[in-house]
Amino acid sequence: MLAALPRKQYQRMLGGLESVALIFGDVLYEPGERIRHVYFPNDSLISLLTLVEGHLALEVGMVGREGMIGVPLALGMDVSPVRALVQGAGAAMRMKSARFRTEIRKSAKLQQEVNRYTGALMAQITQTAACNRFHVVEARLARWLLMTRDRVRSDDFRLTHEFLGHMLGVRRVGVTKAAHALQEEKLITYSRGKISILDRKGLEAASCSCYELVKDMHDGVGSSGR
Ligand SMILES: [Zn+2]
Repeated sequence: MLAALPRKQYQRMLGGLESVALIFGDVLYEPGERIRHVYFPNDSLISLLTLVEGHLALEVGMVGREGMIGVPLALGMDVSPVRALVQGAGAAMRMKSARFRTEIRKSAKLQQEVNRYTGALMAQITQTAACNRFHVVEARLARWLLMTRDRVRSDDFRLTHEFLGHMLGVRRVGVTKAAHALQEEKLITYSRGKISILDRKGLEAASCSCYELVKDMHDGVGSSGR
């Protein structure tokens, strides 16, 4: 996302950006807590989870190199509505909230990029809500694996059944069944918390249409006006 900014703008922001290594399982935000930093993932991946009754978590969005964590700040809110959980370890740049607010006030271009990303993220969250309600677990799992792959840019990543259950809002047994089905079709291998995608095209065919829809929306971000 930062790469989409004009060079001059990016260079001015550099002074306020700090490189950080995000670790699998790190929690960047909790619902209701003040946002201290915004994050721009490089090859890391962050899940946005909504919590129900304090212990049930459901993924409502996924953020990687195409976007940022901390969108509420740009909208004038300083508290996060969601938990932001590091789902793929890797690098990110971060900036203190106050500095980010200043930068966004000073730069119409930054404001514009953040607005466009916010629109795409809202669309992703909206689609995810419908997906969770209407699509079967196997298709959702395929969508989720493809979205993850696009952001970490690797066919191999770590996962646990428990984690996947949260992502998809289903019980462990449902996740196991869906993962087995995809494995039977030789689309993935899955063992001891490690997933490998064997056949991306096949996985796209097994996924619901939400994958393409959301991908197109995010690919549209930053594609015009330059
Ligand atoms: Zn779907």
